[in-house]
Amino acid sequence: MSDESKPLPPIPPPTAPAAMPPPTPAAAPVPLGAPPPPPAPPPGLPPLDALPPPPPPPAGLPAAPPPPPGGLPPLDSLPPPPPPAAVAVTVASAAPATTGPRPIRWMDAVCVDVVRRTHDSATLYFFVGEHGGYKAGQFVSIDPKQFPELARWCAYYEKIKGKKEGIRAYSMSSIPSEPCVSITVKAEPYHPDKDVYPPLLSPFLASGALKGREVKLRGFSGPYTLAPDHKDHTDQVVHLVAGSGVVPNYAILKDELQKPENASVKHTFIDVNKTYDDIIFRDQLFALQEAYPDRMELIHLITREEDPSVHGPNFFKGRPSADLIRKFIRDTSTCLLYSCGPAITKYEKQRAKAEGIEPSPRFMESVESIVHELGIDKKRFKKEEFG
Ligand SMILES: Cc1cc2nc3c(=O)[nH]c(=O)nc-3n(C[C@H](O)[C@H](O)[C@H](O)COP(=O)(O)OP(=O)(O)OC[C@H]3O[C@@H](n4cnc5c(N)ncnc54)[C@H](O)[C@@H]3O)c2cc1C
Repeated sequence: MSDESKPLPPIPPPTAPAAMPPPTPAAAPVPLGAPPPPPAPPPGLPPLDALPPPPPPPAGLPAAPPPPPGGLPPLDSLPPPPPPAAVAVTVASAAPATTGPRPIRWMDAVCVDVVRRTHDSATLYFFVGEHGGYKAGQFVSIDPKQFPELARWCAYYEKIKGKKEGIRAYSMSSIPSEPCVSITVKAEPYHPDKDVYPPLLSPFLASGALKGREVKLRGFSGPYTLAPDHKDHTDQVVHLVAGSGVVPNYAILKDELQKPENASVKHTFIDVNKTYDDIIFRDQLFALQEAYPDRMELIHLITREEDPSVHGPNFFKGRPSADLIRKFIRDTSTCLLYSCGPAITKYEKQRAKAEGIEPSPRFMESVESIVHELGIDKKRFKKEEFG
């Protein structure tokens, strides 16, 4: 059997269960309690093999909404979880058998598992029933207001921000051939010196609190996908990603490696992270590279370690530059570049404008400069910005 026709290797650590296990209640009921501790930068999230025990019995009700914490929502204000019988799988109605695009809609899902990826990220696996299909690289949206634990924070934020808390988008790390829809979420940090508010939804999702619970997902959305006929237009797809920006590209890569008919296209996967331990899907990417040495090349750029080459020959120090990226591209006039990662947020733009300064470029702004410097045609460059 050639490498191209090999099935994808099993990906450690174990991925979603093939059959849905019975949902487990999220947490034991705990009474209302004392105000949560003041916001603090999250030191990293707890292991997910066991949910954290509830805090000690509270002393009394909070007098006023406390400042939101940067990390997990306070468990002492958790309402009782729904009884297990209520956590029934409500299968989304099957998509009509049409050939047109599947409409974006709200779907009832059950979070059947949560797997820790790094100290601050986790993959959430959802059973969504007959969801009607999606493309590798697309995203789902989640409304934070649906979670009782966040409802008070949403109301509080809406009051002080003076606008509705919107839904958040999460790229799927799963591919259509996998049994569960999965997303992989990095808990955003809180920097009290520069952030106006602590992040709302991502620390909650990455905490593992949703395991066994019903969730409403909206999807499937997004044009960040490979065209079905891309092999007619290129022999190389370059993935340039940073941090949680790896998620949609990992899905695209997995999906493509399963297609022997696209074996003429090589995937060059350049993943930028602060440290070795920040690499989401590190073992999974190693496993894919080992299984498909002729179809993919994996390069890691590490920005905050003295000598990343201790981790292997494909580890380099520093941020991406045009000179470095050029070394991995066969032909800048025919390659496709897919890039995903953090960009300047609208809040950073607003603040910079108010202060009369230029906002500091983030990953996606550097990628735009690289694309320009390498002369890559805009039609051959696709981006997904997390900002
Ligand atoms: C298409 C797409 C796909 C994505 N995929 C992923 C993914 O796969 N994995 C992943 O981890 N993330 C992904 N994201 C990012 C994700 O949608 C969220 O933005 C991220 O999780 C942060 O959400 P949050 O609720 O934790 O933080 P938020 O509460 O949204 O806060 C984020 C930042 O904005 C600031 N902020 C919020 N409101 C205001 C305000 N009114 N004024 C000033 N500052 C404010 C906060 O201080 C904080 O620094 C994706 C984004 C997009 C657009």
